[in-house]
Parts: sequence; structure tokens; C-alpha cells
Amino acid sequence: MSATATDVSQTTDQRVFNFSAGPAAIPLSVLQEVQAEMVCLPGAGASVMELSHRGKIFVDIIQQAEADLRTLLSIPETHEVLFLQGGAALQFSMIPANLLKDSQKTAQYLVTGTWGKKAIGEARKEGEVEATFDGSATNFDRIPAEGDCKISDDAAYLYYCSNETIQGVQFPTPPAAPTSVPLICDASSDFLSRPIDIANHGIVYACAQKNAGPAGLTVVIIRKDLIDRGNENLPGYLLYKNHSAAESMWNTPPTFGVYVLGKIVKWLLNDIGGLDTMAKQNAEKAAMLYEVIDANPDFYKGHAQADCRSKMNVTFNLPSDELLAEFVKEAATHKIENLKGHRSVGGIRASIYNAMPVEGVKTLAKFMTEFAAKNS
Ligand SMILES: *Cc1c(COP(=O)(O)O)cnc(C)c1O
Repeated sequence: MSATATDVSQTTDQRVFNFSAGPAAIPLSVLQEVQAEMVCLPGAGASVMELSHRGKIFVDIIQQAEADLRTLLSIPETHEVLFLQGGAALQFSMIPANLLKDSQKTAQYLVTGTWGKKAIGEARKEGEVEATFDGSATNFDRIPAEGDCKISDDAAYLYYCSNETIQGVQFPTPPAAPTSVPLICDASSDFLSRPIDIANHGIVYACAQKNAGPAGLTVVIIRKDLIDRGNENLPGYLLYKNHSAAESMWNTPPTFGVYVLGKIVKWLLNDIGGLDTMAKQNAEKAAMLYEVIDANPDFYKGHAQADCRSKMNVTFNLPSDELLAEFVKEAATHKIENLKGHRSVGGIRASIYNAMPVEGVKTLAKFMTEFAAKNS
């Protein structure tokens, strides 16, 4: 080993309980597989990053990733899977550019947090939009109540964000849309955390860096009849039909991201045993933290209302800024890292995606109980 190379066993020992909201934790076993293949993918004579996206080796990788994703999510034949770049943010524009622009219709948005607000802001540049629900009056602590929203039969689409990453507000089940209205979901921060009824949606999309891989890849699952709607005059990258016709190779896809996603999907299928099991584990992990919050109501203040608490991002505040700073500092001595909430909500955000081990959540829950007892 050269003098500058890192001792791998040591860097593994240095890993912390990483509660980062995104880019976020990746299963250790997946990282180790990637590490083992980093310099040379078996049989390829090079790393995956050094291979042509049109060569057989990479084409097999992307096709296998899609096939496994279809199995994991039970994606029906009515829907295509596209592997794109530009993050979730580019979908804020691509969706209205393809489905709203020149449609003479209005797109309806359920704005339950920061990401929904950004999405409607971008959509407004493409056509008529309506914030059918806007949770900003209560600083985005809830989802619409049953009967809160009237969805027109003639809407261009109904858009929602299944899990608002910053506020920690999650739809327990998708909102209802008339069958004539495509339901569009930004699932970036709860993608692959639980089953989702793809057949019921026009588009489900997610950037990878929360729960499905490294930054740079966005998965778009789109109903086939929606693919061809974009106007040819749009920039080519923005047209879903270009990506569809070229099987996600209209330009170079994010090859490394697709490769890692493929490994994460296999981990979910083979090691975890599918999304029902994953969802159950995630619910149990989240319950551990919400129980501590509820047991200490004068100390911890949960942000989201109880019926829409996120199982991915647990958001809460402490009695003072001093205690908040102390909490973050002391947590680090237990290897609990990256807890600080987004400035718009304040407080703490513990992101507990699929890759966060139960042990990490237990450690945090125990620390929270002790910290409240000591400082109340
Ligand atoms: C992180 C996130 C985004 C933004 O993703 P980018 O890839 O940075 O564009 C959008 N929506 C949700 C729900 C997110 O969690």
C-alpha cells in the first residue's frame, strides 16, 4: 500500500450515525460492494465510471436496475422508468413544460412544505397553476384534511410531495384525484421507503440522494400516455419523449448513480425482503423517536401534526437556542451527527432513511430521553 492510501478498515470504524437529510446514508454493505468494484468491475477491466454507457456491460447494469426496480415497486407495464439528471428541481420544470404548457388547463398543487412551494413556483412560469392547498399559514405542519380541497375533473394534473423533507410532513396515503386527472408525486425523500401504488399515479419521481443512491440521478416513473405531450420546440433535454425513445440514453445518463441505485434495489429485495418489510422497520424506527417527543411534551416540540408525521424526517424543537446547541454538541459524543434542522423550521431534524440502522435510532432515542431528564 502506498503511503498516501487510506486504511480501509479504519475509515469504516470512523463512520457515525449519519442523520443527514440528503445526500444521506447509504447501506454500508452497498458501499463495501462499490468499494470492492471501484478500481475494476469484475470482467470489465475498468471501473463502472470508465465504461461507455452504450457498451454491453453498462447496458446490462441499467436494464437490470430497471427490472429490479419494477419488481420492488410492482411497476405496471403502463408505466416507463426513466433515469435522468438535473435533480428533483429539474422535474419542477419538466412536469409543467410537458403537461401544462399550452394545455389551456390549470395544474393543481397541494403545497405542504418547502419543496411543493418551489415546485409550484417553477410551474407558474409554464402555465396556469393553483395552490389548491397551502399549508404556509401554520408553517407547513400538516397535510390537507379530507374535503379541504376541490380537484377539478379538468385539471392538467394534481401535484403533491409525499414527504416534505424540511418540515417532516408526510402523506400517509396519496391524495385522491379524479380518474381524468394525472396524479403527480415528488417522492424524493420517501422513495423506496414503503410501497406506493404506481398504477394510481401519472408520474412518481425522486432524486436519488435521499434514499436511493448518490446525487446526480433522478428516477422518473411515468405513465406512457403522458410521455408524448411535450412540444417539440422545448429544449431537447426537457422532453420526456426524447428520453423515452432513447431508453434513458438521449444523452449520457448518470452511470455511476444508476449502478449504485441498482445495488440498493437489490439490497432492498434480497437483504431486507421487500418494501412491506422496509416500511415496517421504518415505522418502528420513527415511532421510537416520536415516543420520546410525546413523553416529554414540555421539552421537545414536534413540528408536524400527529396524523402526518414523517417516518423519514423527524422534526422537533427544544426550549431554547442554548439547549439546541448543547443537544447537537452532546449528541456528537455518541456518534450522532448531522441533526441540525433547516433554518426555515429551526430545531432538530433527524433523517432516518432506509439505511439508518435501528441501533442508530435507539442511540438517539436514549440520548433524547437522558438529555430531557438532565435539562428539564
Ligand atoms: C431534496 C429534495 C428535492 C430537491 O432535490 P434536488 O435533487 O436537489 O433538486 C426536491 N423534493 C424533495 C421532496 C426533496 O427531498
